[in-house]
Amino acid sequence: MSGKPTVKQMQGEVAELKNELSQFANALVQEVMKHNTLIYALLNDMGKMEKIICENCGEEVARPVLKDLENNDDCPSCGKSLFITKQADLEDLSYIADLNDNEE
Ligand SMILES: [Zn+2]
Repeated sequence: MSGKPTVKQMQGEVAELKNELSQFANALVQEVMKHNTLIYALLNDMGKMEKIICENCGEEVARPVLKDLENNDDCPSCGKSLFITKQADLEDLSYIADLNDNEE
């Protein structure tokens, strides 16, 4: 009689599942990255990529320029705005608002 699986057997199965899952996730990530590279290369070839140097961290950011695509101005590298002036304006405004709160 085979009976109920032992704890050890179950642990083995869980470990196996985990392993398969991580292999699957890895394959998925690699596939997505492959597509990403392909799309970026295609857009670049078509002259549909713009390169921006981040004003905050100096990292070069390439992003697609497409009519129906809204671009995010946040730097993927440092998370701040790619255009420092815009960010500074926002910070200045909140600073002034804080000052006004304190005076009351
Ligand atoms: Zn940056």
